[in-house]
Amino acid sequence: MGRRRKKYKKPVRKIRRIPTFFQCPHCGAKTLRIKFEKIGVEGRKLAVITCGTCGLYAELEVPQMYEPVDVYSLFIDKYEEGELEVEFRKIPEEEEELKAEQAGSSEA
Ligand SMILES: [Zn+2]
Repeated sequence: MGRRRKKYKKPVRKIRRIPTFFQCPHCGAKTLRIKFEKIGVEGRKLAVITCGTCGLYAELEVPQMYEPVDVYSLFIDKYEEGELEVEFRKIPEEEEELKAEQAGSSEA
């Protein structure tokens, strides 16, 4: 029985609701986060854009179907055109860090 142990493979990560980070047009850091909030308007939602580095804060009302990446491109357009009101908020204390997934081997 010469069964050798195979080299440990990287576990395939399941895609979860991981917040996506984009590059901030203000400070250039890749800490721009887009969250969605309900606004009680059918077919619309509010995208809240925040930067964890410079504190940039902006809100955009977008169609319900928008994904963060869509919001990002819209945001960049508006930001560059100066059409968007942008605030700079104090950066909250350390944001909750995502628990590093302790990927235990799932044995069947
Ligand atoms: Zn920034």
